Amino acid sequence: MNFKKTQIGKLIIAVSLTMNLVSCKEEEAVTTSTTSTEVPAVYKKVYGATSITSDGTYITFKTKNLPDHKSPYYATSNALYEAYIGTTFGGNTFKKNPNTISELSVTVKIPLNPKVDATHAATPLGAIGIALNGVAFFNQYAGPNNQALTNEIVSFDKYYGHPQNSGVYHYHVEPLYLTTVKSTKSGLMGFLLDGFPVYGPQEENGTTVTSSQLDAYHGHTHTTIDYPNGTYHYHFTADAPYLNGSGYYGTPGTITQ
Ligand SMILES: [Zn+2]
Ligand SMILES: [Zn+2]
Repeated sequence: MNFKKTQIGKLIIAVSLTMNLVSCKEEEAVTTSTTSTEVPAVYKKVYGATSITSDGTYITFKTKNLPDHKSPYYATSNALYEAYIGTTFGGNTFKKNPNTISELSVTVKIPLNPKVDATHAATPLGAIGIALNGVAFFNQYAGPNNQALTNEIVSFDKYYGHPQNSGVYHYHVEPLYLTTVKSTKSGLMGFLLDGFPVYGPQEENGTTVTSSQLDAYHGHTHTTIDYPNGTYHYHFTADAPYLNGSGYYGTPGTITQ
């Protein structure tokens, strides 16, 4: 009897030790998941970034700003160089500008939890966001002094991008390589600096979005595949202002190059 009691006693100690170990592990697991430097899946869709990190407040993308598609704006020695003769955005006849694509070292920092900002800061000339392929988004104006894009549109290549005078390749309008090759017309295209996502010119049900359906900042709120709980988002549209209206919806992060 004594022998049996000892054995049972040992068993109870062993079981309680095991349970303690299990509960310790569970606590550790909970602690790990609350340290939120993990990058949410939606940001990993920016496949052209050379790195994507989170500090729990901002998502930071690093990019060389090089399009992953052919362009007549690459140096002729580049494997992605391709001459182009034909039409471009709006049915205009393509006319190459004198610039060439440069490799850059860009850091784009956007809020992890974007929020509306009543000041709606105007978007500046230059990069205002990042596309899935790591290329910059620009607004509806040309430099200097916010001129209309009219004279620039003819120089958009067959994927509707072009470089400015220091070689920064960018999209002002629908990035056609993303909407037709890498994603779809209703897919995620990237993010503006305020952290809100940018979608293509259609909704997921196939309807085409026009500027008149959007607010002054060129967006609206509803659920998407990437955001099942709903989010504010911008859309590219065929009609001006194409991507952004009169400012950011939220508080912009930073872009350095
Ligand atoms: Zn431009
Ligand atoms: Zn929408």
